[in-house]
Amino acid sequence: MLNIILCGAPGAGKGTQSDFIVEKYGLTHISTGDLIRATVAAGGELGEKLNGFISQGQLVPDAIIIEMLEKHIDSLPADTKGIIFDGFPRTLPQAEELERLMTAKGQPIVALIDIIVEREELIRRLLFRGQTSGRSDDNLETIEKRLVVYHNQTEPVAEYYKKLGKYKSIVAMGTIPENVALMDEVIKTLL
Ligand code: AMP
Repeated sequence: MLNIILCGAPGAGKGTQSDFIVEKYGLTHISTGDLIRATVAAGGELGEKLNGFISQGQLVPDAIIIEMLEKHIDSLPADTKGIIFDGFPRTLPQAEELERLMTAKGQPIVALIDIIVEREELIRRLLFRGQTSGRSDDNLETIEKRLVVYHNQTEPVAEYYKKLGKYKSIVAMGTIPENVALMDEVIKTLL
């Protein structure tokens, strides 16, 4: 199985790149942000609790998101070709748990691909997305909080994968077709 983590700040294009990889390589996309938003949309106590974190630009506690992710992985069909993890892991404990889990399944993570984009461009993309996304966290105040959270809590995840020798990166400051082509070059090295 080709299991890959897409890492990058909010607005780096993880969702867009995931769509491309799913289409071209038939991998399965797991976005923990999407899992959380679906739980929020379903309502209920857990949904309300999760909404409190995302609307403030804060991370959902590790224990909750790890449990949601593990259940989701266990529900995938046996013939899954590989998983693209989008938005997970976002903290060191999440990274350590994912490594443990996937190694125990005999389906280790092959690489973390870091999508690097400058701060001004991230903000520009997120504000643009906010005009149509309807997301409670695509506004300037929350975007700035999310970028701080990314720097403090998620950048160490990239460092962790560097130490494991599984780190790859692209600088995705171009157009979508250009950025997708850069991603494709990296994916080809993993096949
Ligand atoms: P995303 O769609 O990946 O931008 O995630 C939107 C929001 O969902 C984040 O700002 C967090 O509040 C929450 N979230 C998504 N993935 C995680 C995760 N792995 N750990 C904790 N919170 C998460």
